[in-house]
Amino acid sequence: MPNQSPPTNNRLISPIERQGDEALDLSLRPKTLAEYIGQEKLKENLQITITAAKKRQETIEHVLLYGAPGLGKTTLAHVIANEIGANIRVTSGPAIEKTGDLAAILTNLEEGDILFIDEIHRLHKSVEEILYPAMEDYALDIIMGKGPSARTLRLDLPKFTIIGATTLASLLSAPLRDRFGITHHLNFYEPQDLEKIINRSAHILGIKISTEAAQEIAKRSRRTPRIANRLLKRVRDYCEVKGDGTISLEDALAAFKLLEVDVLGLDLIDRRILQTIIDKFQGGPVGLNTLAAATGEEADTIENVYEPYLMQLGFLDRSARGRLVTIRAYQHLGLKKLETKQLI
Ligand code: ADP
Repeated sequence: MPNQSPPTNNRLISPIERQGDEALDLSLRPKTLAEYIGQEKLKENLQITITAAKKRQETIEHVLLYGAPGLGKTTLAHVIANEIGANIRVTSGPAIEKTGDLAAILTNLEEGDILFIDEIHRLHKSVEEILYPAMEDYALDIIMGKGPSARTLRLDLPKFTIIGATTLASLLSAPLRDRFGITHHLNFYEPQDLEKIINRSAHILGIKISTEAAQEIAKRSRRTPRIANRLLKRVRDYCEVKGDGTISLEDALAAFKLLEVDVLGLDLIDRRILQTIIDKFQGGPVGLNTLAAATGEEADTIENVYEPYLMQLGFLDRSARGRLVTIRAYQHLGLKKLETKQLI
C-alpha cells in the first residue's frame, strides 16, 4: 500500500536496517559486481547492460530492484554507479515530501547521474506524477500560477538513470512500474553464499573465523546478508570477551545460546508465536487479532515481520479461518503431541 510505514523492528534478527547498522553497512558494502556475492543471474544481466551502455556511451535505462529488506538493493545501486563510473544521489520515497523537493533534486542532476530512490513505493502520488515525464522524456513540467490562468512550463533535464528499490514490485502503481526499462528481483541467499559474505566481512573487520563457525552463522541468518553481518558482529563481541580472538564453532554456539537465536535463526518471539498457537489454540486455526492479543504483539507486526519467515520455513500456514502451525513447526520445537487432524 503506498505511503504505508514499514513496521519498526529492533530485533537482532530483523532484516530491516536498525540503529548501528549504518556504519557497519558502509564498511562492508561490496563496491564492484565481482565483490557482490550471489544473485548470479542478476549480476550476469546487469553486466551486459552496463557493458553495452558503456560501449554506446549512453546512460542505462531506469532500473527497478525489488526484494525483501537486507538483500542488497542499496548495495547493488552503488555497485552499478561504481561500475558505470557515474555519480549517485541517494534519497527515499518518504523523504521527498513535496513536488518541489523532487524538482530540486532533478534539476541538480548532471548528465549520466544515477538517482537512487529507496522505498520508491512510498512516494506521494503528486510527487510520483512529476516523475513520469522526468523518466520518460527527461522533462520537468512546472505549473505556473493557479486557476484558469495557470500555465505549464517544460524544463529539459539531463539524461539520468533512476534506480528504484522496493520490497514488492506490486506495491508500485502500474504507470510508475511501466517506466522502468529494467526490473530485477533479488532472491534470498543460499547458505554457501552467506558463508562467503560472512568470510568476506570477517576479513574486512579483521576477525579470524573458522569454517564451521561461518557456516553456523550462515545457517541462522534467515537467508539475508544484513542479518549475517549483524550476527557476525555480535558473535565477534562475544568472542572478544569470552574467547581467544578467533571465532570457533563453540564460541558461535555459545553466543547464539546467549542471544537466544536458534538453529534456523528464530528468536524468542518467533517461537512464542508458534508455541502460543499450539498451547492456546491447539495448533490453530486462529485469527490474526486473537493471536495478537494472546501474544501481546501488534497484529500488523505479526503479519509483516514475523509471519513471512515462518511461512517461508513452512512452519505457519494461512487459511480462510486463520493461522495454523504445521507439523514441521512441532518437530522444530521438539514437540511430540501430534493430533494429526489439526495439523497439516
Ligand atoms: P537493502 O537495500 O536490500 O535493504 P543493503 O544493500 O542495505 O540491503 O544490504 C545490507 C548489507 O548486506 C550491506 O551493507 C552489505 O554489506 C550486505 N550485502 C548485501 N548484499 C550483499 C552481497 N550480495 N554481497 C555481499 N554483501 C552484501
